[in-house]
Amino acid sequence: MQALADGLARFRRDVFPAKEDLFAHLATSHTPATLFIGCSDARVVPELITQSEPGELFVIRTAGNLVPAHTPGADGVAASIEYAVAVLGVSTIVVCGHSACGAMTALAEGHDLSDAPAIAGWLRHAAASRARAVAPAATAAGGDQVTALVRENVRAQLTNLATHPSVARALAEGTLTVHGWVYDIAGGTVEELDAPTTAPAATAAA
Ligand SMILES: [Zn+2]
Repeated sequence: MQALADGLARFRRDVFPAKEDLFAHLATSHTPATLFIGCSDARVVPELITQSEPGELFVIRTAGNLVPAHTPGADGVAASIEYAVAVLGVSTIVVCGHSACGAMTALAEGHDLSDAPAIAGWLRHAAASRARAVAPAATAAGGDQVTALVRENVRAQLTNLATHPSVARALAEGTLTVHGWVYDIAGGTVEELDAPTTAPAATAAA
């Protein structure tokens, strides 16, 4: 906790004054161009790796950067997606997976999650990812089983994303493009994946 308090003090002293005009503008303006959907993993910091300023990224972070397919009923992820796309009007969505992802490792290696029912339930949203990752074409791209699953999971979540009505509408209208990224922690690099075939408007613009 002390580290957080020290950080807040440094922010007030060293960072805030230099960006005071930006924060004054942002106090009454919220117009991010990008919805960034990443993993909750502490090592993947969206603003840092994209060098974005406050106000530029609308961020959703979930375990394994999973995006549940749209279903009727309240859902925090769905609400955030709808807000970003339909209300804020973002023009770009990035789904970003990453190397050494704990969620993907648990899936790829078949970890026993019987003592972690919430995690086990949540990871069911990666069922399609797992099915894709065992296909020969998935591992042919290089890397081990976890790497293949990380990649296929991003593709599967892009497909799930397109089931959300706000996203489907914006894709059909050509006002939105979706992108799949895989961030490598050790190398600081990002591999951009092909857009999914289920989002034709995004494919054309990618
Ligand atoms: Zn992760």
